[in-house]
Amino acid sequence: MSNQNASENQKPAPPEQLDFIREIVQQDLASGKYKAPVTRFPPEPNGYLHIGHAKSICLNFGIARDFGGQCNLRMDDTNPAKEEVEYVDSITADVKWLIEGWADHCLGLKPVGKTPETRDVGGKRDFFLPAAGECKTPLEPFYASDYFDQIYEWAVELIKKGKAYVCDLSPEDTDAYRGSPDKPGKDSPFRNRSVEESLDLFTRMKNGEFPDGARTLKAKIDMASPNIWLRDPVLYRIRHTSHHHTGDKWCIYAMYDFAHCLSDYIEGITHSICTLEFEVHRPLYDWILENLDLPRPLPHQYEFAKLIPSHTIVSKRKLIQLVNENIVSGWDDPRMPTISGIRRRGVPAATVRRFAIGVGVTKFISLTDMAVFEHAIRDDLNKVALRRLAVLRPLKVVITNVPEGHVEELDAVNNPEDPCGGMRKVPFGRTLYIEQEDFMENPPPKYFRLRPGGEVRLKYAYIIKCDEVVKDSTGKIVELRCTADLGSKSGGPTSARKVKGTIHWVSAPHAIDAEVRLYDRLFTVPEPDSEGDFKANINPHSLEIITAKCEPSLKHANADTRYQFERLAYFTLDPDSEPGAPIFNRTVTLKDTWAKEAKKSQ
Ligand code: ATP
Ligand code: MG
Repeated sequence: MSNQNASENQKPAPPEQLDFIREIVQQDLASGKYKAPVTRFPPEPNGYLHIGHAKSICLNFGIARDFGGQCNLRMDDTNPAKEEVEYVDSITADVKWLIEGWADHCLGLKPVGKTPETRDVGGKRDFFLPAAGECKTPLEPFYASDYFDQIYEWAVELIKKGKAYVCDLSPEDTDAYRGSPDKPGKDSPFRNRSVEESLDLFTRMKNGEFPDGARTLKAKIDMASPNIWLRDPVLYRIRHTSHHHTGDKWCIYAMYDFAHCLSDYIEGITHSICTLEFEVHRPLYDWILENLDLPRPLPHQYEFAKLIPSHTIVSKRKLIQLVNENIVSGWDDPRMPTISGIRRRGVPAATVRRFAIGVGVTKFISLTDMAVFEHAIRDDLNKVALRRLAVLRPLKVVITNVPEGHVEELDAVNNPEDPCGGMRKVPFGRTLYIEQEDFMENPPPKYFRLRPGGEVRLKYAYIIKCDEVVKDSTGKIVELRCTADLGSKSGGPTSARKVKGTIHWVSAPHAIDAEVRLYDRLFTVPEPDSEGDFKANINPHSLEIITAKCEPSLKHANADTRYQFERLAYFTLDPDSEPGAPIFNRTVTLKDTWAKEAKKSQ
């Protein structure tokens, strides 16, 4: 796919139209506040990345790319109960795939086993970004869990300052004391515990003396604050659980809100960009950093609206259900909105980026029609896909005026959109397959394909006329007997003769069988999440598996090549394929069949 990225790979021109976050970045550079932006993409490794994350990845890496900065890939791994190495690995692979050739020079990784020692705000990039080829050690993402020692020290500092305390309220009581948005909270009876006692208890929490849920460390802020996140939020909880990255070293774990801002600080993040639901957390983000008296400048948080695509779900909790309940074949099932599913479906990374960037960065929550994504896929694949002949539901055709055993090699265009795409040969003979739906015995008006007594052109070949319809004892059509106008192939004396329809075909004795997986949208309604139980909205026809008859060249189809089966859809080779036994996934149909459905139901 690399030649596709060529234009994108050139040094980016300064962005013309800036979204509101890029405007802020530009101002911060112009004022000299920072030399370069340092952003981060901070997934929690508790599931695979999805198309929504692609928006965040493109925004964070895009800013680094546009302004000569860096974007760290950081595992936000503070909740060991739900996190796994499998997710760390898939996230790393997906991010690399998505930004490769576009912003991979901005990817902040670190040598395996090291933690950042320096905090260089605004881009001394040596430590974070060892230049490719120069780095002797393998690289890995940043981990919030690498900062647990430092974060613990800062918790101790807050206690010493009287700004945090150990609380013995149960999780239920903690909730009850917090109140609700319209009702102020109540001070915990442990709020005024002495610094010494809190220090002692916090140390013992860390040493594993108490069971899960027995105590927490809380920030001492304001139980009457209109912002519920400032009502003495929990900073640490006890969890006797092994961690995928730190093993059994810890049995207390920092909450997201405490770990996140401090991880940003440690990495010298300049602009900490997240989705709108974190807007209400921002005062806490600032409170923590400010109350630790950290040397300035501090990172700042900015929020944008999520990407919410129609006809799918992007909640990890629900995606996990689809996987665990075997509703799909795995996280990378091509129907999943995950990056790995989208990749397996055959969508190029550049298309995902174009879509994720094209939806724009705003503060307004809105639903993005899946058709926009599908349109982008068609657009891009049209330019690069090799055209091939394949018949999904074969109907046998015998050309009675072509002798038995006759084989002719006809020229077929590889890609009419690509002047350098070249030609290939396709074999033609007496017995062919055409698509069942390209013949109708009693067609409606304006049916321009084959009918009894009617004519149609076979793509790259002859005009044929249907003379006879052969049926089995049940009345099913099993064969058509046709004659070809043998002067009508390209360059022939009757080649200019006009017939209304052109259909695709393959030579029966030469065709290879291939498994074809016809994927469709996983859900039938635009918002499966808000229209009852999301699983009740699953499209029962989201996958159909058939055996297709394909032109022989597809026997050695290539995983890096995209194909268009002419008149049908775009396809890609599935990794389940064996040498000589290809399996094809339908990436997207040539036409938007859903738009037609929607019109019908209006
Ligand atoms: P959860 O917190 O429920 O596990 P999440 O989707 O928020 O799910 P994270 O791993 O926290 O998962 O997400 C990593 C980053 O991606 C966050 O900065 C988050 O704001 C961003 N992100 C998540 N979903 C979307 C989305 N639909 N559109 C844009 N950005 C998103
Ligand atoms: Mg999240």
